[in-house]
Amino acid sequence: MINPFLNEERRAFHESVAKFLEAEIWPHVDDWDEAGAYPHEINEKICQLGIFGFNIPEQYGGLGFDDAHMRKASAVEMGRSSAGGVMASVGSRSIMLKPLTELANDEIKNRVLPELLSGRKGGALGITEPGGGSDVARMQTTARRDGDEWVLNGQKTFITGGMQASYFVVGARTGGDGMGGISLFFVDADTPGFSRTPIERKMGWWASDTATLYFDECRVPAANIIGEENKGFFAIMDNFNFERFMMAAQMCGMSMRLFDECVAYAQSRETFGERLISHQVIRHKLADMSARIDAMDAYLNQVAEIMNTADRPVAEISKLKFHCSTNLEWIASAAMQIFGGAGYLRGNAVERIYREVKVQAIGGGSEEIMRDLAMKQMGL
Ligand SMILES: Cc1cc2nc3c(=O)[nH]c(=O)nc-3n(C[C@H](O)[C@H](O)[C@H](O)COP(=O)(O)OP(=O)(O)OC[C@H]3O[C@@H](n4cnc5c(N)ncnc54)[C@H](O)[C@@H]3O)c2cc1C
Repeated sequence: MINPFLNEERRAFHESVAKFLEAEIWPHVDDWDEAGAYPHEINEKICQLGIFGFNIPEQYGGLGFDDAHMRKASAVEMGRSSAGGVMASVGSRSIMLKPLTELANDEIKNRVLPELLSGRKGGALGITEPGGGSDVARMQTTARRDGDEWVLNGQKTFITGGMQASYFVVGARTGGDGMGGISLFFVDADTPGFSRTPIERKMGWWASDTATLYFDECRVPAANIIGEENKGFFAIMDNFNFERFMMAAQMCGMSMRLFDECVAYAQSRETFGERLISHQVIRHKLADMSARIDAMDAYLNQVAEIMNTADRPVAEISKLKFHCSTNLEWIASAAMQIFGGAGYLRGNAVERIYREVKVQAIGGGSEEIMRDLAMKQMGL
């Protein structure tokens, strides 16, 4: 569909990301998924595309500008690659970069941002706890002040990229109950009192590493607090907007890939003496898929434009995320049906994406929480 906001710069950026992923990632997705890991140098190669550098000053290795349309283009291409696990692990740095860049002290920024943006070191965001993820305001991990240090105790779980990350941004309770008692902290992985264990056997994102993090009297310097004490909840919520927008764009890309796979399959497969694509039921499925993808794409373009030009559109981002996840779920199911038995076998994009629908519908704010937030933001 025509994107009214496309210009030469955005087109060139989009094409460079697509070209790289098609050459360097697409051919290996199945092997890396089956292996449960990808080569470490992929982190650096993907980071070199500049896709994590938006809104980060050049002195730290960032791009020095922001553009939600380019952010969208990169996430669409990540989705289209169907390499969900690789993108989740490499991309885990992206969901901790915003608080780090905007709120951490200069020493941390100078030391850590170039490492993260170059891909030499990994980063992860620790918000979710074994006791729950949706209700961020009730997190139980604590940080108590002791002289020149903060002492962290508690656990974080489901942390994407958490096994290979060297740096973490972690939420912890520094004050009373509720959202007004939470702060954010920067934690080096080699800090005494910090440990981690892998979470294995996930439904999807096989190539990604996921961890449970443990903080046992884990002492970090007082200067490792990110932003103001007890204001962490608001930084977390602000950060979520970008994560959710990027997930929505990834889902659009995943849907585009499913459509392309289905068209190619339906053109070559024959049943009852005709190509699959000649059967009206299949044609209608493809038409429905295409219409849903156009709607996701247009919604993304519109929200990207609002993000570029106005205050953060929280209600729209929330609606966009569940709009994309419910459509992706429908499209993935239709794609599996078009593939028939072939879709049920491992080693193809349709089967892989089908397994990765649910993490998109739950992670970064579930469909239920997105609907609640949208209604609240609309004043209802
Ligand atoms: C593969 C994977 C990677 C992840 N990566 C990270 C990461 O890097 N960092 C991180 O911090 N977290 C991460 N998460 C955690 C993710 O953000 C949480 O799973 C998510 O926020 C939901 O929290 P929960 O799983 O604890 O579900 P719960 O909060 O226990 O909710 C369970 C179900 O109840 C629903 N529900 C909850 N409250 C309500 C309500 N009021 N009304 C109606 N329904 C409700 C939810 O929508 C959900 O469907 C990841 C999760 C997965 C699966």
